Amino acid sequence: MFLDFLKPGKPHARWKRPDKFDRNLVVIGAGSAGLVSAYIAAATKAKVTLVEAHKMGGDCLNYGCVPSKALIRSAKLAHQMRHADNYGLTPHQSQVPFADVIARVHRVIAEIEPHDSIERYTSLGVEVMQGYARLIDPWTVEIALNSGETQRLTTRAVIIATGAQPFVPSLPGIEDVGYLTSDTLWEHMKDRTEAPRRLVVLGGGPIGCELAQSFARLGSEVTQPEMAPRILMREDEDASDLVRASLEADGVRVLTRHTALSCGVTDGRKWIEVEHGGETRRIEFDDLIAAVGRAPRLRGFGLEDLGIKVDRVVETNAYLQTLYSNILAAGDVAGPYQFTHTAGHQAWFATVNALFGDIKRFKADYGVIPWATFTDPEVARVGLSEAEAKEQNLPYEVTRYELDDLDRAITDGADRGFVKVLTVPGKDKILGVTIVGEHAGDLIAEFVLAMKHGLGLNKILGTIHIYPTLAEANKMAAGLWGRNHISPRLMALLDRFHAWRRG
Ligand SMILES: Cc1cc2nc3c(=O)[nH]c(=O)nc-3n(C[C@H](O)[C@H](O)[C@H](O)COP(=O)(O)OP(=O)(O)OC[C@H]3O[C@@H](n4cnc5c(N)ncnc54)[C@H](O)[C@@H]3O)c2cc1C
Repeated sequence: MFLDFLKPGKPHARWKRPDKFDRNLVVIGAGSAGLVSAYIAAATKAKVTLVEAHKMGGDCLNYGCVPSKALIRSAKLAHQMRHADNYGLTPHQSQVPFADVIARVHRVIAEIEPHDSIERYTSLGVEVMQGYARLIDPWTVEIALNSGETQRLTTRAVIIATGAQPFVPSLPGIEDVGYLTSDTLWEHMKDRTEAPRRLVVLGGGPIGCELAQSFARLGSEVTQPEMAPRILMREDEDASDLVRASLEADGVRVLTRHTALSCGVTDGRKWIEVEHGGETRRIEFDDLIAAVGRAPRLRGFGLEDLGIKVDRVVETNAYLQTLYSNILAAGDVAGPYQFTHTAGHQAWFATVNALFGDIKRFKADYGVIPWATFTDPEVARVGLSEAEAKEQNLPYEVTRYELDDLDRAITDGADRGFVKVLTVPGKDKILGVTIVGEHAGDLIAEFVLAMKHGLGLNKILGTIHIYPTLAEANKMAAGLWGRNHISPRLMALLDRFHAWRRG
């Protein structure tokens, strides 16, 4: 059965193959994965059509990375102004002009918009169609254009890049109280002059933590229920503990091991009921953001009719091909990651395999995948965490360098955090790195490069890092590892050598 899945061609048998094709590639969805796919196809002279039902740029530009990072920046500045005395300045306690903050978020989106625009992609050689695409057979895509017309295109290959959407838990009453998601939040906040007074952010994952901290810093009273024992469950405990402490210092009420049960309105007051240790209680709120995960967009555009398995993600093989070798998937819809950079990374493999797979196919390479959560402090990771190493029974050594030792972190008042490196016992080979601290998402890049190209800690130690920078933390961690691995025999030899030289 499984081998059948891998055999290209077989599932096509029940469909009539067109004699000629209108396109080499049709890409469905113009988010991070779709844009990169279309770009690569056009750059390699393929005739490519990119279909987008809604907004060019998808989640990242319109509802995800861009608006959230813009909000985080304003929230951080508001926090620094409030704590300016930490820097010898007068603290600024005044009310946050929330409408201006949100207006800036939308200005930032507008400023980046041209990068993903129809005009830009058209100029790059991509045909962009605005409409809803549906697969009719393995080679035909029907597009219900936003203009009202319908068009059918035959194509040698298709890339499914339809992304994901916020998952809303089916709590009794949630529809009655109303809720926001990352999809609706930014537009909804446009009309506000003040941050929500009492905000519940449901979910302790990266999106929930970023939003909870930002809104708290912008003046909301934030409660963050999370049913897991801790926030940022994917990260090691030491990392998630530091973020929790920081969120709490910002006033977020972090409620771990709290399961949401239902929502309702009593006497005009909205509430959410949560359970903790067998007891239930109600938390009143003015706004609720559901941030409990994102579900791939899998249905309604023909995958089911073609018999392509859509369980949690579109089922693909190592080459990102579905049951049909000419229909591939990339980005959030394909999993296993939900990041813009992994969507773009997969897009390369999907496009090359779609266009040139009959000559040579490439397996999507998930060897070294980094990511970051942009809380303050940021948490960045590449490779294994300690928990994962333990789960996999892999022997490892830990080197942990604390940022309160780093000159630049001290001068910047950014001395919370650490660089933690997991290595193969007795060797400088890096298994994984977690960085918690200011600009951790940038600092991790050096380790990503090292892991990708098989460079060990000795190579990082042998590289000049500018003083005083945060990047020196990476070298310090490597130095710490080096000191812990000095050969006692060599030291004894040196001792004798110097004694001999002294005469
Ligand atoms: C609040 C938030 C913050 C985030 N922050 C980060 C971050 O800091 N860093 C990071 O790496 N990632 C972040 N992400 C995740 C990132 O946004 C996604 O991983 C990325 O956008 C996925 O890209 P994609 O191309 O797979 O899908 P999407 O960007 O969702 O694009 C899919 C597109 O397909 C279109 N579409 C769907 N079906 C059809 C159809 N049948 N016909 C035509 N068009 C269709 C949709 O309209 C959509 O525009 C964040 C996400 C959120 C929600």
